[in-house]
Amino acid sequence: MTASRPLCHDSPDLLEFDAAVVDTRPGMVLLTRSAFYPGGGGQPIDRGVLRWAGGEVRVQRLEAEGDALWHVLAEPLVIEGAVLGVVDAAFRRQMSQLHTDLHIVNALAFQAFDGALVTGAQIGEDGTARLDLDLPGADNDRVRALEPAINEAIRQDLAVRQVYVAADVAASERGLLRSRSVTPPAQADGTIRVIEIAGLDRQACGGTHLSSTGQSPPVRILKVESKGRHNRRIRIGLAG
Ligand SMILES: [Zn+2]
Repeated sequence: MTASRPLCHDSPDLLEFDAAVVDTRPGMVLLTRSAFYPGGGGQPIDRGVLRWAGGEVRVQRLEAEGDALWHVLAEPLVIEGAVLGVVDAAFRRQMSQLHTDLHIVNALAFQAFDGALVTGAQIGEDGTARLDLDLPGADNDRVRALEPAINEAIRQDLAVRQVYVAADVAASERGLLRSRSVTPPAQADGTIRVIEIAGLDRQACGGTHLSSTGQSPPVRILKVESKGRHNRRIRIGLAG
């Protein structure tokens, strides 16, 4: 597999894909292409299966080896020939909803608390997700008070799209690199992927997102707690 841009970035609606086997080991297969999100940035790997002449097997995880992305299978099978990859659509949709919602929370907190940076994020498999922000001194009630504005951004059905920005330009735009410690890796051409929510936010990210905010159900802020001086943990849940 070449270092071209991932299918899950450029074709987020492609959830069933044809591919051929490039290389195989017991329990692992390398395909000509893959639409699976490999995990990272707090977003779990996609669920799904590979189908081929010999049957069907669940994909357990993806393992990078240089530019190659191996599919690690749930059983020690050897796959040959043509393959149909099937990404679990319901799971991907929920991950993309929560991921997009975290961008909204993050954008509104960044505005309300003067450039608060992200210290961590994790999307759960139970319809909730958490965002850790560096918010020393901020009142928890003010954080909880963001909930109506989050749902207003969802109601407005704002367009979400990816753009690619030169790494040096990205570094000079305030707030584009939102994480306090992690700089997302540049593409092979030296650009960084940026997720833009129309009129609300631009930030570097490698995950999967909705194409407009209205595709998420409303969210609730379930909990706001302090995890040390530089770590305020906000947990949200899908209300729909
Ligand atoms: Zn993202």
